[in-house]
Order: sequence, then C-alpha cells, then structure tokens
Amino acid sequence: MRTLLAALTASALALGCGAPTPSTPTAADAKQFLETVNDTMHRLGVEQNQSGWVQQNFITDDTEALSARVNQRYIDTIARFAKDATKYDKVDVPADQRRQLNLLKLSLVMATPQNPKEAEELTKIMARLEATYGKGKWCTNPEKPDTCLNIDEVTKVMAMSRDPKRLLEVWEGWHTISPPMRNDYARFVELSNTGARELGFADTGAMWRAKYDMPPDAFTKELDRLWDQVRPLYLQLHAYVRMKLRAKYGDAVPANGPLPAHLLGNIWAQDWSNVYPLVAPLNADPGFSLDDILKRRKTTALEMVRTGERFYTSLGFDGLPKTFWDRSLFVRPRDREVVCHASAWDLDMESDIRIKMCIDQTGEDFTTIHHELGHNFYQRAYKAQPILFRDSANDGFHEAIGDTIALSVTPEYLVKIGLLDKAPDASRDIGLLMSRALEKIAFLPFGLLIDQWRWKVFAGDVKPDGYNKAWWDLRLKYQGVAPPSARGEQFFDPGAKYHVPDNTPYTRYFLAEILQFQFHRALSKAAGCTSPLHRCSIYDSKEAGSRLNAMLSMGQSRPWQEALETLTGSKQMDASAIIDYFAPLKQWLDEQTKGQPIGW
Ligand SMILES: [Zn+2]
Repeated sequence: MRTLLAALTASALALGCGAPTPSTPTAADAKQFLETVNDTMHRLGVEQNQSGWVQQNFITDDTEALSARVNQRYIDTIARFAKDATKYDKVDVPADQRRQLNLLKLSLVMATPQNPKEAEELTKIMARLEATYGKGKWCTNPEKPDTCLNIDEVTKVMAMSRDPKRLLEVWEGWHTISPPMRNDYARFVELSNTGARELGFADTGAMWRAKYDMPPDAFTKELDRLWDQVRPLYLQLHAYVRMKLRAKYGDAVPANGPLPAHLLGNIWAQDWSNVYPLVAPLNADPGFSLDDILKRRKTTALEMVRTGERFYTSLGFDGLPKTFWDRSLFVRPRDREVVCHASAWDLDMESDIRIKMCIDQTGEDFTTIHHELGHNFYQRAYKAQPILFRDSANDGFHEAIGDTIALSVTPEYLVKIGLLDKAPDASRDIGLLMSRALEKIAFLPFGLLIDQWRWKVFAGDVKPDGYNKAWWDLRLKYQGVAPPSARGEQFFDPGAKYHVPDNTPYTRYFLAEILQFQFHRALSKAAGCTSPLHRCSIYDSKEAGSRLNAMLSMGQSRPWQEALETLTGSKQMDASAIIDYFAPLKQWLDEQTKGQPIGW
C-alpha cells in the first residue's frame, strides 16, 4: 500500500467559503484559482505527510492528536476547494485546467451536506463506525479479556486452524462486531448521498464511479466484461479447491454447491493462500525457499532494499536519493511503537520519497520491497506535473505498478542476481502458479463485489432491511461462497470488512489485479521475453523501463485510457493477460477437475 493523498473524506463543505464570488467568473479567475489550489495543496500536503510520518513512526497520544489536526485542516481545505471549483463549471478554460477542476471535485470520497447539523451528525457517525471496527473484538468470555480476539488474532486462527468447529466459532465471533454498525451505516448512506447530490451527483456511488474517465454506467459494464474474461478460470479454481476441501472436511463442503466462507483460510474468503497445503499439487515444490536463502546468506534489510533498487536502476531509472536511505524505516525499532504495515511515502511530493517497513528475512518481504518501491518510482516519475495530476492514472494503477514489478521476481531473476544457483524446471511451475492463483484469482470476485453492494446501497436499490441478504446474494453470485450458518437481517456482515465502515472505495483493488498482468505482458514483450508469461522478468530491460517510465511520468494528467495505451498500445483494459499468465495452471486444473461439477 501507499499513503494516499487523494483518499479524502470531506467534512467541511458546510464551512463558509470565504470571499464572495465575482458574479461571472472568467478564465483568468479559473487559472488563478487553480494556482492557489495547487500551491495550497502542496503546502498542506507536505505538512500532512510530515505529521503522518512522525505519527506512524512514534505512536503517542500527542502525535496522534497533531496528525489528526493536520489531516482535518487538509481535508477541510480540499472540501472547500472542491465546492469552489463548481463555480467554474460553465467557464471556457483550456482542457488541462478543466481536467484539474474535475479531479478536484472528484477528490472527495464522501461529500458532507451543507446543513451544519447534518454535517456534524455525519462526521460523528463516521468516527463511530471506524472506532467500532477498530476496537472490534470477540470474546468467548467477555469477563475475561484474555479470551478476546482482535482482528490480528482472528486472522491467525483463520489462517492456521484446520478445526472446522474452531473456524466456525471464530468466523461467527468476528461477525458479532458489526451489527451495532447497522443503523449508523443506514444513516451514513442517507447523509453522504445528500452531500453527493449537492455536488451534482445522483448518489455517493455515482460520485465514485465518475472518477474513471467514462460514463458511470459504461464503467459498470466494463467491470462486467473484465470479470467475464476471467470467470472461467475462477470457476476451475473454485471447483478444484472445493474438491480438495471436501476431501479434507467431508460434507461440510458440498459436492457441487458454494464454498463455506469459514474454510478458506481468511475471514473474508478473499485470499485463499493459507489453504495451499490442503490443495498443493503433487511434486510441485519449487525446490528452493527464498526465506532459507536470505537467512543462510544473512542478508540484511538494507541489502534487500538495495537489491530492490537495483531492479529499477536496471530498467534505466535513477537510483534512490540519499534522503531515501537516511530517512526510511527498514527494521522494527526496539524502543518504540510504530505502524509496521508496509507503506511508501512521498513526503515533499518531489523527491523526498521513503518506505516504512519492518523487514524480515523472508521471500514475502523481499517481494513487498519491490512492490513498495514501485510506488516510490511512480511518485518520482510524475513530480513534474501540477499537484492535481501527481497521482496514478486511475486509482487502480498505483497498486498495479508495484505488483507488476513483483511479478518479475521470478526464479530466473533470482538466478540473475545471484540469489539462486539454478531455476527449477517447468514441471514445478504448477506449484508457484497455484499459490499465486489462490492469492490473486481468488481475490478477483471479492474485489468486485464490495462496491457492487455499496453502489446498490447508495442508489437505494438495496434498503437497510435487505443489507445482509443483498451482501450474501452477491457473495454467492460472484464468489460462489456461502455463509456457514443462517445470516438474517439481525446481522450486518458487510461491516465486518474494514473498508465498509472505513468507507474506502474497493474497485481499485479489482482493477489493480487486472492491470498488473496486462502491464506485465506488455512490458515482457517490450523486454523481448519469449518464455511463457509467468517466467518472464523485465529485469535489466531498458526498453521495458522506458515504456514504463513514459506512462508513470504522465501521472493523472491524461485520461487513464491514454496512460494505458502509452504502456500497452491499447486503450482498453484486458484481462486476457491473466489467462495467458495462468495458462499452464488452467490446463492442469482442467485435468484435475475432469468429471467434477463446475460452478454452484
Ligand atoms: Zn501498495
């Protein structure tokens, strides 16, 4: 992940908007306005990053309070600017200024109603929803705190336990945190819709969909088209995993129905990597462990990051600045609390880029370093753009870039950089592809359905008395996953997923999964790779690097379709690269599931 400048929740549209507007604003006024906006956003954005960095590196009550204050000021200012931008709706301005004005209006994730009472109510509800999730715990005995599980502990049980009774109990337990959110969520929907309508959108969901350089309805159709491209592969994976889980758990897993949500190794069944040992193909062990190699060589965190940097310099990018090495956090400090979740930062929105990670000597962290640096190199590539364009082409692109590079961390790459003597032969590919599919293919329908649910809720197609039913209908439709026990409207299961109470749009994660394979295929071609796609690494290819840089440096200055075309030659997102990448696995799955029921 990275820190998101644009992930804003407006809470201050209700504030007075300063000086009275001239009766008819001119193009010169618009230009002047944008200059003010860019300057202010830069100044406040730097302050926000600095306070956020300090807060996450030195967690105390004071740094939290300071950071919250700076955040609020930043958000309030953007909210006021977003509203002011509507004054120039009818003014004739150059195209790039029009785009900046539109992006400004769309930078809000939530618009607060103008009515101060409603605005205050909404702000309180949002804080309460977040706090309810954040403090969420399930206790077998509420009298005894040591029987309580927070989300980290729940995650561990779901990943490690193979006891269906325990898994069911913990699954149901975690879902007890969210029913108290139900009324708040319904009111949040009403109030945030009011705010969205005041900005000219049909509802909050329509406001989110408007960010994709195409009509909201066309965007929805586009998502359906992409999902249809990958659905056959998902169905095969689903059928195979069902067969294997049925062998393990018996009738708890139906022969031809949906998968039970509590047996997939993850509380939301969004990533199935943890059931790999139960579904592992025979004789597909890659024969090496990057964890072991890094440990045996006593590779330090710093050396791991240096290796990641060399990936990018091999593509032709400049090395990281000295400040990156001086100011980043690579290892967990012994003497203080820090947020260890890996993130990439762009402190001054120019060149003070950093990562913050507590690196372990593991293959997973080695890959994550390549991912995080992808954000940093993106940030640096678009630094010449106006502030409002210093972001990824759409919100799926930023995550996709880091992951694209991570796809190039292949055994062949490890051989090239001297970490591995010899790459395993092709017969071992099924194991690597299976573990990747359990992570990435399994995620796709989940990545899609969260916002399908929210868009229906915001649009009023799903009313509060049908929240839970609509949720499980979508989970069945897209994921082929069913709850382990009856889930009536006394529950509020969407609220047990962080991004719902936190109100973070989710479609970006679906897009990132699609785009990373499309980028990987295009860059591999540019690099002249003729191997099967999953064996290609763009390491050391200047040609791939210059393609990549051409797109990254555009930032958000042009519609994402043009950015996509710059890298791939096509203006259309295309999930067929996923099918190419997983072709050997698909073939293998077809054989394994011969005669087995497919679908649910
Ligand atoms: Zn990321």
